[in-house]
Amino acid sequence: MKGVSRETFDVDKQIQQLAEGCSAFGITLGGERKRKFCDYLEELLEWNRRVNLVSRQDTENIALHHFLDSLSFLPNIEIPQEARMIDVGTGAGFPGIPLKICCPDLRLTLVESTRKKVLFLKHIIDTLRLSGVSVLHERAEALHQDSKYRDNFDIVVARAVSPLRSLTLLCLPFLKPGGKFVAYKGGDVRGELREARLELSKISGRFEREIDVFLPLSNRKRQLIVFTKAHKERNGDAILSKL
Ligand code: SAH
Repeated sequence: MKGVSRETFDVDKQIQQLAEGCSAFGITLGGERKRKFCDYLEELLEWNRRVNLVSRQDTENIALHHFLDSLSFLPNIEIPQEARMIDVGTGAGFPGIPLKICCPDLRLTLVESTRKKVLFLKHIIDTLRLSGVSVLHERAEALHQDSKYRDNFDIVVARAVSPLRSLTLLCLPFLKPGGKFVAYKGGDVRGELREARLELSKISGRFEREIDVFLPLSNRKRQLIVFTKAHKERNGDAILSKL
C-alpha cells in the first residue's frame, strides 16, 4: 500500500488482532504467515477502492470478520495431508486463501463467476506466491459435468453464497465419496437445513453435524454445517434442473 499512515497503522493493528484470535484457535501465526496476511490485507484495502470485494463499512475488521472467520474451520475439522479443496463462490478468497496460508500443502481450487474478483484472486495468488492454487472464472454448476472436478475433491467449502438447499445441490457434486462439504453459515439455519435435508438423499448427501463457533475478539458466532457424500453422483442433469 502506498504510504497512507492511518491505514498502515490499521493494518498492523488488525494483524495483531488476527494473531491473538489465531492463538485462541490454537493456530500459530509465525513470521511468514503474518507477512502473507499483512500483504493480503493491504492489497484488499487497495483494490476495494475500485472493486467491491468486502463491505466498505467494515474495512477496519477484515482480519477478524474475514480472515479469522475463514480459519474457524481449522480447530474444528481435520484437513487430510495434501487434501484437494474447492471453494465455491470464493469472492475475494474466503475462506480458501486464509486456509491455504495456514495449510500450505492444501491443493486449492477457487471458483468465482465475477470477472473483477477473479482478477483480484489471480493478483493475490501471485503477490503471496501461493503454489498449488488455481482460479476458475466460471459458474460452479458449469463444472458439474467435467470429470476434472466432479467427484474429485476431499473438501468443498462455501461461505455466504446461497441458502443451504441450493448450496448443497451446487457443492456436493464436487465431493469424492467420503469427502466433506462445509458451509459457513450465520443466524438461525434450522429452516434452511430442513429444506436442504429434503434433497440430500437424491444427491447421495448426508448431514453430518453442525458446529457452533464463537469467534475470538469480535463476539460473533459462526456455524459450520458439515455434509458428507456417500457415493458417486450419477444424476447430474437432475441436479442442474433443481438449481
Ligand atoms: N465467499 C466469499 C464471497 C461471498 S459473496 C465471502 O465469504 O466473502 C458470493 C460470491 O459467490 C460472489 O462473489 C458471487 O460472484 C459468487 N457466486 C455466486 N454464485 C456463484 C456460482 N454459481 N458459481 C460461482 N460463483 C458464484
